[in-house]
Amino acid sequence: MKAHLLTIGDELLIGQTTNTNAAWLGERLSRLGLEVERTVTVGDDPDRMRDELDRSPQRAELVVLTGGLGPTHDDVTREVVADYFDAPLQTDDAILDRIRHYYERRGRQMPPSGPKLAQVPQGFETLENPVGAAVGLWHESTVGERTRLVAILPGIPEEMEGIFESSVRPRLEARDDVRGMQHRTLITSGIGESSLQERLRPVAEELGEKVRLAYLPSTNGVRLRLTALDGDSAAARDQLDRLETKIRERAGEHVIGTGDVTLEEVLGNQLRAAETTIGSAESATGGLIGHRLTGISGSSDYYAGSVVAYANRVKQDVLGVGTETLDEFGAVSEPVAVQMAEGVRQVLGVDVGVATTGIAGPTGGTEENPVGTVWLGYADAHRTRAVKRHFVEDRTLNKQLFATAALDLARREIGRKSEEEDEDWMPR
Ligand code: ATP
Ligand code: MG
Repeated sequence: MKAHLLTIGDELLIGQTTNTNAAWLGERLSRLGLEVERTVTVGDDPDRMRDELDRSPQRAELVVLTGGLGPTHDDVTREVVADYFDAPLQTDDAILDRIRHYYERRGRQMPPSGPKLAQVPQGFETLENPVGAAVGLWHESTVGERTRLVAILPGIPEEMEGIFESSVRPRLEARDDVRGMQHRTLITSGIGESSLQERLRPVAEELGEKVRLAYLPSTNGVRLRLTALDGDSAAARDQLDRLETKIRERAGEHVIGTGDVTLEEVLGNQLRAAETTIGSAESATGGLIGHRLTGISGSSDYYAGSVVAYANRVKQDVLGVGTETLDEFGAVSEPVAVQMAEGVRQVLGVDVGVATTGIAGPTGGTEENPVGTVWLGYADAHRTRAVKRHFVEDRTLNKQLFATAALDLARREIGRKSEEEDEDWMPR
């Protein structure tokens, strides 16, 4: 079933109120298996509301309106709906009583505008409001062959959510024509959105009508959202299983898990299973790797600490990076990254050292090392390596991206079987 959302209110258009209702409803409805095809915001403007009511039924079976149900003169949703559906407003005495009580319980008189809240368009069901005075409205009809469901909810988020949960959701769940959209999320790491899309091109080309694949990038990696639109849950699960298998065939080493697993969790589990300890030498990331690793409860099992070696003096004095190395190659270089990783391994007495040295920006970029360049170092008891990566122009994003890349380097190197050959390795 397709759904349209119509959020109403001038304050939404001018950016005074963030439209959280659209996000909340979008999430809830899709979790129920509805496809939210369109969300539109209009002001408290009868003509624009009518335009949208005209447009929706050709494409969607459900339209949810929020906002403008209240008692003030700018709240016109009730009147517009009554007029649009040719359903004259009638006072519902039971609701009027309840509203009067609502105010009396709070030691107040019902305001003169109160009775407006008890007006119900003829033929509409009322939906009880567990947290406020204004009730919601519900209407079911058939237009030609098509079902038309209309839910009208107040704008105040708590009231909208309360009525949705107690009255709208049960009505939708009870329907045969609302069923089976399933989502699955695959978490990837160490690959950008474009490269991932390139790799998955053949998979994407044969998706068919009922399966969708979406890329959700962030500084922690790209999440892949797989959606099966088909029928019952077993069929949808099969479709998702098949799609997941194909994705893993093409991007397997980058897929680190499903759901909301994080890179630092995956790395932490790996370290714990291998009884390996880790420490970090952080120049460009300024301690962010330590912050990310210590975000996991129990990380003291494997994480020893970080040396934030921002000044060259600390790289030399604490981590033992050679003065000549710094002079000859500069701080953002392969040999410095390697020596930092090895240095922190020695200084902290850990099995694995990871290091970052880079240019987060906005200043400090050079021809050879433009803003966004980072050298990542890795060292364990057998081998060391460094890789150069290049990210973006923004300092905050770069720090996050550098830390993610360093954690991902550690994940991959620790996961690598020791006998596997790799040309980038510097044997020790
Ligand atoms: P009331 O009975 O309070 O008048 P109402 O149904 O008339 O409720 P509005 O007057 O449109 O609702 O909005 C009431 C409050 O809810 C306002 O503070 C508004 O900013 C907020 N609100 C309205 N729509 C949304 C929305 N889409 N997302 C988040 N908040 C909203
Ligand atoms: Mg209002």
